[in-house]
Amino acid sequence: MGEVEELERRLQDWVLVNVFVWRVKVDRIPTRSALNERGIDLDTVLCPRCGDCVEDLDHDLVGCRKVKKFWERLVKWWGKDVGYAVTPSDLIQEHEEILKATKGISWWVEEKWYFVYLVWTHRNKAAFGNEKGRVQDLFIKWQMVVFEWLIEGAKRWQLIGSSG
Ligand SMILES: [Zn+2]
Repeated sequence: MGEVEELERRLQDWVLVNVFVWRVKVDRIPTRSALNERGIDLDTVLCPRCGDCVEDLDHDLVGCRKVKKFWERLVKWWGKDVGYAVTPSDLIQEHEEILKATKGISWWVEEKWYFVYLVWTHRNKAAFGNEKGRVQDLFIKWQMVVFEWLIEGAKRWQLIGSSG
């Protein structure tokens, strides 16, 4: 892949994640319960992943038993405490505090939100597609993107050579 295409792809990812963050903030994520509240007629308001609970954003991004596996994996890999910052409103609050503290620059915020975004795309696969998104695949995708970001960041700060 050429450098321009690579940059474009990365920019697209970044835009998608930031649009997603904004939609969470203004409560515009089309979960089944949100659509139902807007008067849209649905066959079911149950979670497309587990089918056990009414689907709302808390359930989708954090609470669903199928989603817990993602978070456990992330938390374990990152070496963070399992109990930490895991409702959408916690995430938003944390996002705003970190952005304020770092004047808009924080890798961890972007990385975590990229993860939340992937959890949402996994939900959409369950809701609309026949494709089964596996925890393993999602986590590997996240790792690959985050490694790219880390390498890019290291290059920018000249921690490693840019020739290799
Ligand atoms: Zn569920």
